[in-house]
Amino acid sequence: MTIHSRWQVPIPQGSLQKWIFGSANDPLPDTKSFIDPELPETNYVTLSNYRLLSKRVALGLLRVGLKEGDRVLTFSGNTIFFPSVFLGVLMAGGIFTGANPTFVARELAYQLKDSEASFLIVAEAALKTALAAAKEIGFPQDRIYVLGGQTPFAPELAASPNPAPGVKGRVNGIRHWTELLQGNLSQAQGWSWVEPRDPADITCCLNYSSGTTGVPKGVEITHRAYVANGAGVIYTQNLDPEASSKERTGLCFLPLYHAYGQTYFIANCPHLQIPVYVMAGFDFVKMLEYIQRYRVTSLTMVPPIALALAKHPLARKYDLSSITGMGCGAAPLGREVCEEVEKLIPTGSTVRQGWGMTETTCTCMSWHPLSDVGPSSGVGEMMPNCAARLMSLDGKTAIEKANERGELWVTGPNLMRRYWRRPQATADTVHVDADGTRWLKTGDIAYVEAYRPGTIFHVVDRLKELIKVKGIQVAPAELEAVLLENPAVADVAVIGVTINGGEVPRAYVVRDPRSPNAKEEDIARWLEPKVANFKQLRGGVVFIDAVPKNPSGKILRARLRERAKKEVGIR
Ligand code: AMP
Repeated sequence: MTIHSRWQVPIPQGSLQKWIFGSANDPLPDTKSFIDPELPETNYVTLSNYRLLSKRVALGLLRVGLKEGDRVLTFSGNTIFFPSVFLGVLMAGGIFTGANPTFVARELAYQLKDSEASFLIVAEAALKTALAAAKEIGFPQDRIYVLGGQTPFAPELAASPNPAPGVKGRVNGIRHWTELLQGNLSQAQGWSWVEPRDPADITCCLNYSSGTTGVPKGVEITHRAYVANGAGVIYTQNLDPEASSKERTGLCFLPLYHAYGQTYFIANCPHLQIPVYVMAGFDFVKMLEYIQRYRVTSLTMVPPIALALAKHPLARKYDLSSITGMGCGAAPLGREVCEEVEKLIPTGSTVRQGWGMTETTCTCMSWHPLSDVGPSSGVGEMMPNCAARLMSLDGKTAIEKANERGELWVTGPNLMRRYWRRPQATADTVHVDADGTRWLKTGDIAYVEAYRPGTIFHVVDRLKELIKVKGIQVAPAELEAVLLENPAVADVAVIGVTINGGEVPRAYVVRDPRSPNAKEEDIARWLEPKVANFKQLRGGVVFIDAVPKNPSGKILRARLRERAKKEVGIR
């Protein structure tokens, strides 16, 4: 039985940039959109400059040869200019893809190659890794731009031929990103991007996700999917007119390369003209300081941050009384933690969970201000225009009973278009009904409290391989492939285990008989330089005789999870 949202809302026509700015040239207020919390008086981008700067990035990319549908990979932590790079790519008709700035060269090379990016925009701090990745796959250095420096709107910078402070001209042919802006200020002022003819048919972003199985894949998100996601989220926020009419201030510590950061901070906040203080990355103490100093009203979090707020003594030392809204998603979060956080906030604000996937653009379920049941451990109800089904694990029968678990299938206008250049993975993940409705098989196990619109969903387990470390994806298949390169590893399976309330990867390794002296800790140490810090085997390495597999060779991960539960008393 299908559970529909309580709301069907119109989805504005047009591109994501049109939805954010309304138009290419109509006047916009000079309110601040993105503010550097360390230099709030001088380093910020106003709403009108956000649009102008994005247009200049677009014109610069077109000038250096970007063609419609070309990919631009950004490998950077957050900055106040990141959103303009994102939208500049879209305005030029390109496809944005963002990589985790903590990736090692091998991981970046994989995404560069898989997306076949034409340009790489990279933070100064990540340049060394980017150059190593570029070398690995033969990516030309003259297509690398360094992102950094202060606002290019400062007159002395705009006038300078080498405008970035600290960057003197090109280094080994590598350009500074402000080269894209040079000489195009007046052209950009009157310029309009080309609106996509069918926004549902134009991919504008590849967000990488391993989905239910295998290695990370580019998830094609269209303009319409972003707009549908934003329109749905804002519709539900506005259900409480009192809260939504108050002045709001955001704080962005979520990574902007990920769908969660993108949709909330690059799209929704500027659309609503909510100023956002942009942190380079997450830092718990700085987060507390900024909430207090800037009277931040909304917190958009992932579970480890909620956990830190609940448990860390420092959280009690700061004034958090400005907070009126808290949202949390990306991984499971218990109600007890939410209650601990709520005790800290004198406004009586509750933590509202949401559920989504990269493949659903971002949010697909969430609690609403007027949800007709009190907060529970559930992830909320269906977002506007979305619907869900729970299916038996073989995918053949729809579940119709409240509280009975099944695999969650979802549909809606925010569904991905497909996986980039992977038709088989798309066919395996998206079920198409006889009437043409596309259902995303999420790989999550859920139940509902009742079969009616507005019912609350509970996501209780995962059928898929995916591991989430601090809300960030780790694909077991990727770690297994790397580990198999170790001569001491004859076979391996990686699963997620929960330690101290957070998921971490644990490897079950069959030792190669030719390496009888290899130790479990050697394997973890060998992996250290080969993958990003968040993918490290913090759940341990265990030698086993054989990896349990079914007759067709599929790893029986559930069996390993059962074993891990006994070994470490977890998941
Ligand atoms: P990503 O594509 O990185 O956003 O990861 C999506 C996956 O994160 C989902 O399929 C879930 O397994 C998990 N997830 C997201 N939100 C929640 C939530 N509120 N509770 C439990 N798991 C979640």
